[in-house]
Amino acid sequence: PATTRDRLRVAIQKSGRLAEPARDLLASCGLTWRESRDRLFCYGESLPVDLLLVRDDDIPGLIADGVCDLGIVGRNVLVENDLARQHDGGTSALKEWRQLGWGVCRLDIAINDDEQWTGPEQLAGQRIATSFPRTLSRWLSDKGVSAEVVTLSGSVEIAPRLGQADVVCDLVSTGGTLAANSLKPVETLLHSEAVIAGPVAALEDGREEIADLLLRRMDGALRLKE
Ligand code: ATP
Ligand code: ZN
Repeated sequence: PATTRDRLRVAIQKSGRLAEPARDLLASCGLTWRESRDRLFCYGESLPVDLLLVRDDDIPGLIADGVCDLGIVGRNVLVENDLARQHDGGTSALKEWRQLGWGVCRLDIAINDDEQWTGPEQLAGQRIATSFPRTLSRWLSDKGVSAEVVTLSGSVEIAPRLGQADVVCDLVSTGGTLAANSLKPVETLLHSEAVIAGPVAALEDGREEIADLLLRRMDGALRLKE
């Protein structure tokens, strides 16, 4: 770590599915904040806890690099990032400090809804569109199936209609988006929810105590919601 910091820095999604529940959770811990003019940084007023508002994909890297101490992110993003690190010869830098019970979804394989599903071997030689290439590749190799992974950053569910892929591997909650695209889920690779992501190693410079306080309040807030 290049600099010492005595305030805790938490990365959350700037906009998207996890943005509002993440802010609500932090507010329920008694945190109040002041937004910067560019709306990327929030200065914590009631606690020494600042927020960084970013794309969810950037959250694991920000924690791994020590720019932020904790993050609120989907397990799917954390797992994908971890596998990418391992692929590059690194070790796991992050772990789940808490499971939050919302942002629940699955990473599923989905095929055309008029097709029959006989099992993973059916995917051999097929093109599979996904935003989670490492997670998909690991699952394919676990199943001993060789297929082509087509990495797309978004709009994965329309890839079959556009001729970019034969099947998809995408996040599903209700299945409505899949059904609207004439796709049906057939296999689940990962069960996901929003989590508090943090480093495997302990925090330094007194930030461990601030994190403990925040997590204790969070546990109380989560228990109240049960
Ligand atoms: P960003 O601009 O931050 O990159 P994004 O488009 O990647 O946003 P969202 O669509 O807001 O992200 O999804 C954020 C997270 O919400 C997902 O990574 C996942 O953990 C969770 N999630 C829950 N249900 C769904 C769903 N039906 N589809 C997609 N993501 C879902
Ligand atoms: Zn994203």
